[in-house]
This record gives sequence, structure tokens and C-alpha cells, in this order.
Amino acid sequence: MFDDTTPIVNLLESANGKPKLLLVDDQPINIQVLHQIFAADFQVFMATSGAQALAVCKSNPPDLVLLDIVMPGMDGFEVCTRLKADELTRNIPVIFVTAHTDAEQETHGLDVGAVDFISKPVNPAVVRARVKTHLTLKLQSDVMRKLVFLDGLTGVYNRRYFDQQLSIELARSVRNKSPLALIMLDVDFFKRYNDRYGHQVGDDCLRQVALCVKEGLRRPADLVARYGGEEFACILPETDFASAMAIAIDLEQRVRAKGIPHADSEVASVVTVSLGVAGWEAGATVEAGALLAESDLQLYQAKHAGRGQACGAMLKSI
Ligand code: GH3
Ligand code: MG
Ligand code: MG
Repeated sequence: MFDDTTPIVNLLESANGKPKLLLVDDQPINIQVLHQIFAADFQVFMATSGAQALAVCKSNPPDLVLLDIVMPGMDGFEVCTRLKADELTRNIPVIFVTAHTDAEQETHGLDVGAVDFISKPVNPAVVRARVKTHLTLKLQSDVMRKLVFLDGLTGVYNRRYFDQQLSIELARSVRNKSPLALIMLDVDFFKRYNDRYGHQVGDDCLRQVALCVKEGLRRPADLVARYGGEEFACILPETDFASAMAIAIDLEQRVRAKGIPHADSEVASVVTVSLGVAGWEAGATVEAGALLAESDLQLYQAKHAGRGQACGAMLKSI
């Protein structure tokens, strides 16, 4: 079905370019053989010991690992066991490449979490075909894992992901005694917008607002999610209250500057948003619920004060 000249990855355009493959073998000659087979289609990484392999998987997770079993120090079984025990590396498929396969070894390999076995000396066509199969499955499940956490309309994260990340980031912030802020953002007079321009145009407007917020958050750790119908929520880790207020004010201006016409708004002739900011003192304990309630309250204040603006408050420790 596959010959060894078939491009392995042309179906699997990944956002980050070529898929990453890690080759692990204590014999450099074996790595060389595999490298020749895969260099054209993959970003190939190499490790000559189990410890090195684990380090690469953590710092720069590959999409697939071809793993030798017999190595001095940590053997392949141990490497695979550790990869499967770690949340960060659990989803990386492992294929064992080994000189002597017997049923017992193969069973053990599958027990510790490998997806397949290939015998040495490798046949290029076979190894390419197997890698292609497992890589396709891996990339498909990556897509599925992502979709579960994305909002279908706007493409930003959904509320499920937001809730999950908020507790993770809060715990981290307590641990590191670092600040964290939340911003809640709601489109002004959006019911009137829908009534005037129709639901489709309303949907387009939400997409534009989402994009605008996404563009306005610069740090890699910042996160925006669609929290409700026309409401977005942002988590800003490592951000003190004053900076969060500045970011909220900037977001308000960005959305306004998009110039999306809104003839029925009482705020402006274009679409505007109101924002509520909640920060908290670094080092104190705080509940996710209390932060959310405070940002909601601040959003309400911003609406009450005339919309098209940001209000905020700092939560004291409890
Ligand atoms: P305020 O300025 O006080 O926020 O008023 P508002 O009209 O924006 O708020 P309200 O909560 O009364 O109305 C929200 C509207 O958002 C009503 C609903 O039809 C609309 N909406 C919610 N989700 C969607 C969506 O996915 N697409 C579109 N087009 N509209 C939505
Ligand atoms: Mg609204
Ligand atoms: Mg609303």
C-alpha cells in the first residue's frame, strides 16, 4: 500500500510545520539509518540515552518517539513507563525498535504503553508506513483534544477550558506568591445590535471582538475565553492590578477603534464594550468564585457608569 517514496506527512499539515520525531538509540549508527529515512519529512531529534530522551520529551515534546529497548543505564521500557506516567508526555506515541523481538518482550512493551513494535534491522518501507499510521492518529487526537476546549463561533477558548485554567493559574499564583488578574468583558447594547443588523451580523461582530481581545493580550500566558453569549473573560497571570486596568482600558479602545457600526448604541456610533477587572494581593489565598464575582460586579459598575469603560477592584486577602 505504501512505498518508501510516499511523502509521509503531506496530509498532515500541522500549524507548527513538520511533525517532530525523536530517535532514541545508544548506537549512533542505528540513529543514522533512521535519520536517513525520516529527515526529509520530519524535524528529527536524537538522543543516545534514556535520560536524554526524557529530557527532550519534556523540553520539546515530539509527535512520536522511536525507542530502542536495550540501552545502558535506563532501558527503553523504563523510558516508556516514565513518559506514560507524566501528564506532559503521556500523549506522545512510542514505537519500540528492537533487534530481538519475542512475544514476552512485545507484550511487556505494549503493557508499558507503546503503540507498536518494529524489528531491527529496519525495513524503510515498513518503518515509514507504521510511523505514518501512528502519527496520523496522534495528530488527529491532538485536534480532538483542542476542539473540546474551543468555542465554535469565535475560535477562542470556551468556558470549560477557562474554568479549568483559572483553578490551575490560581494555584500557581498562590504557590509562587505572584499576582493574577481577571477581566470580564461584555458587548454594549448587543441585543439592539442583533435586532438591527440580524443574528448573522451579530455573530460576525462577536468574532471581531474576540479577535480584537486576542490581539490585545500580548503575553503567551494570557488567555481569553468566551464566557457566555456576548461575554468574554481573560486570565492574566503574573499581572498586578494596575497593569490589568491598563490592559482593560486598552482593550476598550481597541474594540472601539475597530469601528464596527452600531447605530442603536447609546454609547457611541460604533460597537463598544464594558469591562470589569478583579485583581488580588499576591501571596494571599483567594477562591476562583470570589474573583469571578468581583469581576462581574465591576463589569456591572462599568455598565451602570455609562458603558464603554472599565471598572476594577482589588480583592483583599480572606
Ligand atoms: P448591555 O449593554 O447591558 O450588555 O445590554 P445587552 O443588550 O448587550 O445585553 P443583554 O444581556 O440584554 O443581551 C445580550 C444579547 O446577546 C442577547 C442575545 O441575543 C445576544 N447573543 C448572545 N449570544 C449570541 C450569539 O452567539 N450570537 C449573537 N448574534 N447574539 C448573541
Ligand atoms: Mg451586553
Ligand atoms: Mg451579557
